[in-house]
Amino acid sequence: VLEIKHCNKSFGENEVLKDISLSVTEGQVVSIIGPSGSGKSTLLRCATMLETMDGGDLIYLGDYAAKADAQGKAVYAAKETLQGIKKHFGLVFQNFNLFPHYSVMKNITEPPILIGKRKKEEIYAEARELLKKMGLADKENAYPCELSGGQQQRVSIARALAMKPKILFFDEPTSALDPELTGEILKVIKDLAAEHMTMVIVTHEMSFARDVSDHIIFMDGGVIVEEGEPEQVINHPQQERTKAFLSRFQ
Ligand code: ATP
Ligand code: MG
Repeated sequence: VLEIKHCNKSFGENEVLKDISLSVTEGQVVSIIGPSGSGKSTLLRCATMLETMDGGDLIYLGDYAAKADAQGKAVYAAKETLQGIKKHFGLVFQNFNLFPHYSVMKNITEPPILIGKRKKEEIYAEARELLKKMGLADKENAYPCELSGGQQQRVSIARALAMKPKILFFDEPTSALDPELTGEILKVIKDLAAEHMTMVIVTHEMSFARDVSDHIIFMDGGVIVEEGEPEQVINHPQQERTKAFLSRFQ
């Protein structure tokens, strides 16, 4: 579904991503772990084109969003190609990012309605299904400020799913939540994994990452230090940096 090759990204002198490559196949759940400032969010932002890469390739379903030229510099595709590619993915942030002046229903249905490909009634019916699935059937007319953090985050997951993405990205979806609300969001993500939703998840929840992921990437200092199956990376890390990072969670 997604392939990133030799991604480089700097902010001024600060080299934040150094030759990062990763691929995500259909139905796979990939988690990215690592200390603060290691470049996890920047990698997600590059993958979702909120940020442009300096160098490397970015490929969705075989289509190039960006391709490295002879010098390795990332050259982005034409605007129409990028717009088509953006429909393939959804993004869920730490801070929910809902529109405060829109109802729950409008938050979920506005993006697919704007695209205008499907009938409104169909979009509303699907949104109600998604709300039911998220345990929010009675909240469609509520405003974000009337909901708990966990409920707001479930609305933002429903909003991402309403676009029928081929891949869903999460950047620390529970880090703004109390421990009890964290559990309900992790459960929703686990349910999506059980339905074989393709996902890339940046998280500090190690036991969750171990349970839900097919593949774990440990980043530090803008490089992938270690990656592999959860059992290997979390329970039997090989690299000293990985061991030091994980020891903080015990
Ligand atoms: P955290 O776990 O705290 O969220 P992270 O791994 O997501 O950390 P990033 O947010 O990707 O880390 O930041 C990596 C580095 O890039 C940091 O040194 C940060 O200061 C820098 N950085 C990120 N975004 C920008 C920006 N827009 N402008 C300048 N520097 C940035
Ligand atoms: Mg981050």
